Amino acid sequence: MALFASRSLHENNPPSDWSVEKIGSRWALVTADGTELESFRTKRAALEGQKDGFCARLYAKEARWYAGEDVDGWKPYEPPTCPECDAPLSHEGATCPNQRLSAHP
Ligand SMILES: [Zn+2]
Repeated sequence: MALFASRSLHENNPPSDWSVEKIGSRWALVTADGTELESFRTKRAALEGQKDGFCARLYAKEARWYAGEDVDGWKPYEPPTCPECDAPLSHEGATCPNQRLSAHP
């Protein structure tokens, strides 16, 4: 399954923005908002993992998925839409762009 639950979370958290932090006796890849993604025994392994580890590869796969490409074993990405008028939303639960129109249900 996907690494980030929405397209905007995905786009706001590229691997280049992950930090390598020491957590306990391990080194972890951490997003800007503090989510620990994956941990490694050494700092060096974590830095390599940031480029080509499990999460980095999953991120690349997820990028293709959010772009609408077929990813083996994944159901096609369906962009979230407004339950009232079907307008596309930036993320699940976002304010509908048509909200201010008087015609909006
Ligand atoms: Zn709407």
